[in-house]
Amino acid sequence: MGWLTAGAPLSWTDIKQHTSPVRKRGIAQLLALWDREKTRSNDPHLWGDEIEYIVVSKDDSTRKVRLSLRAQDALHKLEELEAEAQANGEAFASSWKPEYAGYMLESSPGSPYGSTLGDLTLVEPNMHKRRVLAQACLGPNETVLTMTSYPRLGTSGFMDPHVAPDPVNGAARSLFIPDAAITSHARYLALTTNIMHRRGSKVSINVPVFIDNETAWPFLEPIPHSATTLSPEDIPGLSAVSPARKTKTQSEHPMNLDGCTLSDLIPDALPNHIFMDCMAFGCSCCCLQATFQGESLKETRLLYDQLAVIAPIMLALSAAAPIFRGYLADVDCRWNVIAASVDDRTKEERGEEPQVSSQFYIPKSRYDSISLYLSPGPDYSAASTPSNRTAGGSTSSEDGCSMGDDTETLRPDCFFKHKYNDLNVPYDYETFRALQDGGLDEFMAKHYAHLFIRDPLILFEGSLETDDSDSVGYFEGLQSTNWQTIRFKAPTPGMPIGWRVEFRSMEVQLTDFENAAYAIFVALLTRVIISYDLNFYLPLSKVDENMQRAQTRAAVTQQAFWFRNNIFGGVPPPRFASFACTSEKDSDEARQLTINEIINGSGAFPGLVPIIESYLDSADLDSATRTELSAYLALIARRASGELMTAAGYIRKFVHEHPEYRNDSVVSDSIMWDLVQRLESMAESGGRSVPGLTA
Ligand code: ADP
Ligand code: MG
Ligand code: MG
Repeated sequence: MGWLTAGAPLSWTDIKQHTSPVRKRGIAQLLALWDREKTRSNDPHLWGDEIEYIVVSKDDSTRKVRLSLRAQDALHKLEELEAEAQANGEAFASSWKPEYAGYMLESSPGSPYGSTLGDLTLVEPNMHKRRVLAQACLGPNETVLTMTSYPRLGTSGFMDPHVAPDPVNGAARSLFIPDAAITSHARYLALTTNIMHRRGSKVSINVPVFIDNETAWPFLEPIPHSATTLSPEDIPGLSAVSPARKTKTQSEHPMNLDGCTLSDLIPDALPNHIFMDCMAFGCSCCCLQATFQGESLKETRLLYDQLAVIAPIMLALSAAAPIFRGYLADVDCRWNVIAASVDDRTKEERGEEPQVSSQFYIPKSRYDSISLYLSPGPDYSAASTPSNRTAGGSTSSEDGCSMGDDTETLRPDCFFKHKYNDLNVPYDYETFRALQDGGLDEFMAKHYAHLFIRDPLILFEGSLETDDSDSVGYFEGLQSTNWQTIRFKAPTPGMPIGWRVEFRSMEVQLTDFENAAYAIFVALLTRVIISYDLNFYLPLSKVDENMQRAQTRAAVTQQAFWFRNNIFGGVPPPRFASFACTSEKDSDEARQLTINEIINGSGAFPGLVPIIESYLDSADLDSATRTELSAYLALIARRASGELMTAAGYIRKFVHEHPEYRNDSVVSDSIMWDLVQRLESMAESGGRSVPGLTA
């Protein structure tokens, strides 16, 4: 999650006093960085992935799997090995970081992959090496898994060692997850409590349950054990949104909860939904991310925009989260769960109460899809750089790129049109002006002014007194607590690291082969976007519709997604000549395509895999590399066609076919045990020949 700092973190009450100076310092740091870096160019197309893992422990005698906090010991060992190698001047193949929960690990390659197509063949061996290394740091009854949502997180006794949740005195006040689940670094606990306090209540996550033949209707969850000793005075604190609707006997202590359901006790817990009540439910979900360096600021902005449209498509295609808190869900993805789990907006900001004291109505959580395209922007390498542009107004076209009016001439390589930015985007006008005055163009200024509407969530004691003029801590602190589908990353001071985009929507896959295939597919897509001048621009409101469709059950085969008809911005390669945009066609037209059509093509659409194949055909590749890359593309193509299942589909099928599944949506300990045995052997084998999933 970035930006770890040592020191005592401040509470939300204290941070609240300092939001303005923090923002100002963040802006000053960004402006200094901008001045230094805006004209950099010729950076190589380096890239790298990030994989999140969970560690489970297995008890053969009880056939029970639990999330293991021993992952922390493994992490320390891994960090030591990395530091030791560095001290000896040796290369180390992996880099390890903590994640939100104590049973999680995060790894990336020790150094980024190079820019050649041949370098792509290093990805899967590197992922394999990382898994083997992490496994070697664990005990004999422990396993590292790449599973997006741990199916029994938050059920009774889900953690090893067992710690009971404490809804009254715990910092997260969760009915289901104890604070001990949170990684011990102060940052994580502070994030948890500050989000809750800023919001004015616990977070509230409701996922529709999958209603099976024997699932009770309406589906009303029982009261968890942690709530049975509560007294009536504890109840408002359980939700802090509104008092409980029904408590059987208000005067008794503890309460008599006989016959009550969770929805009776907690109004936030909706019937027919799986209810979750703390940040750990979202932040324990594991994902697969990839970061790509652009040659220049302009190219990186271009990639940011194009990848934003691809994010929901890859979310649907990587769907791997069909179970939450022990119940089959009616969704296949983690995204909305995390979005709700870190949603620190107040009721006013969420539009649930009239706006009285808050500055903005904010339509989205901090964790959501992007709300603004960046456009390629002006040419900062030219002698004159733009300044003092006005929001929403048209500009002089010294850069030739219209910002206010589509009828103005766009420069030839600028596919962006103002109408694509069609969302209601709150932004901080003061920040916007300060950034424009400092030389940022309108798009970039608005992008950061939008991110900067969020208050800082983490601040450490004494940090405001330190001289930070040559660092980027405040800027990064604000930026890195905006968790959007695509992150625009600025160069790192003092390091040979340029402008980058991070692709953040994908769910982690069950095996290294699949994770490599998904990461490589996106990497190849960045290459064809640049080489073939691809233009995926859609109004962002349509991208948001796609985000929601992507998460529904079996979206790959059951949903259609908005996609642009004409994706060749320039002259298409000969093989795709029939897809050239002709003047008779509306060049901006979008229609709804299945994922199969988008990925594999049809008579009316070229398809992303065929475009990549054509690119590879034109490259001077040895046959071994070509064969290897084709295997990855084939996985993506077969997933898209529905011939192979997504991880979500595979896990769902496993549950449905399990002899102990009672068609009641419940995923028991015993089912979980067998699922983990299956996942372990699949992951050990590398994952290339799993029937239905990869073969
Ligand atoms: P985060 O910002 O999510 O904490 P990091 O920046 O640490 O992630 O790393 C994300 C990925 O970016 C890693 O796989 C890393 O190898 C890769 N990476 C590091 N340097 C570069 C670079 N200059 N260009 C592209 N990717 C890079
Ligand atoms: Mg992470
Ligand atoms: Mg990341």
